[in-house]
Amino acid sequence: MPNVSKLQAIHQGKCPRCREGKLFKHPAVHSKFMMMNEYCEVCHQKFDIEPGFYFGAMYISYAFQTAIFASVSLAIFILMGDKAPLWYYIIVILIISLVTLPFSFRYSRILMLHWFGGVSYRKKT
Ligand SMILES: [Zn+2]
Repeated sequence: MPNVSKLQAIHQGKCPRCREGKLFKHPAVHSKFMMMNEYCEVCHQKFDIEPGFYFGAMYISYAFQTAIFASVSLAIFILMGDKAPLWYYIIVILIISLVTLPFSFRYSRILMLHWFGGVSYRKKT
């Protein structure tokens, strides 16, 4: 397998050590989208670094949701001007937040593991 960059590994949800094993058991568009593998299927890296490790992912998820909130609000304002009532903002933001929830959840965990997991890449020999 050709070398995978860190950015590609993050985008594809791969293990930070070997960049081949999948972090999640199921695809993002699945009812069990949040189930993670306990260990990497390729290099056996433990994904649950320590108890409560992924609590920090909430802050990353919060940043994602804030960005979604701000960009959707701005888009509504640009498209409709100040004619849009408040309930319209609330409903549209709620729907888009729910639709993007699996991606927000997964990428916040992926980034948490890649940035703060303390796992360095080991090139396959
Ligand atoms: Zn691995």
